[in-house]
Amino acid sequence: MAFSRVARSGLRRTGGTFGKQKGIRVTPQYQSATAERIVEESESEFDEPRYPGLEATKPGEKPRVVVLGTGWAACRFMKGLDTRIYDIVCVSPRNHMVFTPLLASTCVGTLEFRSVVEPVNRIQSALATSPNSYFYMASCFSVDTDKHEVYCETISNGGLPHEPYQFKVAYDKLVIAAGSEPLTFGIKGVQEHAFFLREVNHAQEIRKKLLLNLMLSENPGISEEEKKRLLHCVVIGGGPTGVEFSGELSDFIMRDVRDRYTHVKDYVKVTLIEANEILSSFDVSLRQYATNHLTKSGVGLMRGVVKEVHPKNIVLNDGTNVPYGLLVWSTGVGPSQFVKSLDLPKAPGGRIGIDEWLRVPSVEDVFALGDCAGFLENSGRPVLPALAQVAERQGKYLLELFNRIGKHDGGKAFSAKDSVLGDPFVYKHLGSMASVGRYKALVDLRQSKDAKGLSHAGFVSWLIWRSAYLTRVISWRNRVLRGGELGNHPGFWQRQFQDRIGWDGIRWFTQNMSQQWRC
Ligand SMILES: Cc1cc2nc3c(=O)[nH]c(=O)nc-3n(C[C@H](O)[C@H](O)[C@H](O)COP(=O)(O)OP(=O)(O)OC[C@H]3O[C@@H](n4cnc5c(N)ncnc54)[C@H](O)[C@@H]3O)c2cc1C
Repeated sequence: MAFSRVARSGLRRTGGTFGKQKGIRVTPQYQSATAERIVEESESEFDEPRYPGLEATKPGEKPRVVVLGTGWAACRFMKGLDTRIYDIVCVSPRNHMVFTPLLASTCVGTLEFRSVVEPVNRIQSALATSPNSYFYMASCFSVDTDKHEVYCETISNGGLPHEPYQFKVAYDKLVIAAGSEPLTFGIKGVQEHAFFLREVNHAQEIRKKLLLNLMLSENPGISEEEKKRLLHCVVIGGGPTGVEFSGELSDFIMRDVRDRYTHVKDYVKVTLIEANEILSSFDVSLRQYATNHLTKSGVGLMRGVVKEVHPKNIVLNDGTNVPYGLLVWSTGVGPSQFVKSLDLPKAPGGRIGIDEWLRVPSVEDVFALGDCAGFLENSGRPVLPALAQVAERQGKYLLELFNRIGKHDGGKAFSAKDSVLGDPFVYKHLGSMASVGRYKALVDLRQSKDAKGLSHAGFVSWLIWRSAYLTRVISWRNRVLRGGELGNHPGFWQRQFQDRIGWDGIRWFTQNMSQQWRC
């Protein structure tokens, strides 16, 4: 096999039409900087590029399920997939699952980074031990639904003979669970200057920046104004993630900064900027509770719409200038460039369109779930919120569907037509939770924004918030780690008594929630 030619790939040049000219459904490459690099040598400029990789499975071999992603949806799916029936090939740029609801806590050291990740091999051991199952650390950039192949590019680290290194994997069934990307609304300067909070390395960068700013501000000769700027942490977006991060930051300031950075402690400030109301999807009493609690904890709440972001300040639509030392952006998520580039039906909002069985109609053997997927308009169902709760339950639903059709020989490509799929996926919202810092959280058990139902705020809710997540995809190792870290902080147990917990209440809530969250 020769890789001698640096092909000016037709795929790249024509933005996907190359595939169509050849009668192939190929999605365009979107990673423009790398797209025209290495493909196998082909006969002429108009030949399809040929990639090394895994060819289609042969008769007698187990069907191969290719899974894109290692997030909530993909991991829940892989965890329960029957590996006596299927081989699994998982492709993802990261080799672990991130326990996103607890990510904010790692930025300020409440939790260790290792406690919020779970290696994918531990979630599905067949990936490491089964002869025909693999994990490939790569990003998928294209899918050929006719040939049943995905095209991937490895993460570059300078260790491969050709970089970027591209390969293909043929599938019998394809499960796309590639998540979403933060929305920036095209606002100038956001990508360059703001931090996002989606991955562990983001949390690490935020922590590093925060500590660096604290240390820099102690240097001699730093003006009052500059100190204030360096130690002004601004969070944009008052959804659950923005609120949780602001709460964690204010906790950190109260808990650690006051003791460890006494010279500059009075300069540290957290401001949460939101265009409308914070936590707009929560019950009105919970919103009020959160507002009061955050204000009492020293978080400044500001109404405003960001117009542009500069390296040291942001400008709001009304002209207000807000200097900052740390800027965290959390204004929701939307379809990723990869999802946008796929030549597949789309749901309202641009996610991959799916039917009630999470299939992508009009192509065979392709399923999509989690943040990257949404019900097609003609299904009459709403696009579900981008939540771990949704992703995880879709993962569980799909693995049961796969195990069922696999038992009836429907696992191979083009073989599931006559399989009984069973009941369609039905989503029942179990409620929303958000922590607001200082061992307080909100639990809203209403099924929708306008429905009536139970809501609760305070320490008991915080316990529920933490414990509900302990039972999810993660291993016992991490449950123990997180459980241990839960009560690690000075004043934790003392505060419990100060708060006069109703233990019956805790028992009731915990039982209730663990039943509801069990899947
Ligand atoms: C800080 C934070 C806090 C949150 N808190 C909550 C909460 O409290 N409750 C709740 O319900 N939800 C919460 N969410 C939302 C929740 O995390 C998401 O809804 C959930 O992660 C979606 O799962 P997913 O599997 O669809 O996508 P993700 O978990 O985002 O996983 C996507 C996967 O796809 C991979 N990938 C991306 N592109 C490609 C590609 N081209 N090829 C292959 N792989 C690819 C990614 O590396 C990743 O492994 C939170 C999110 C964040 C960021």
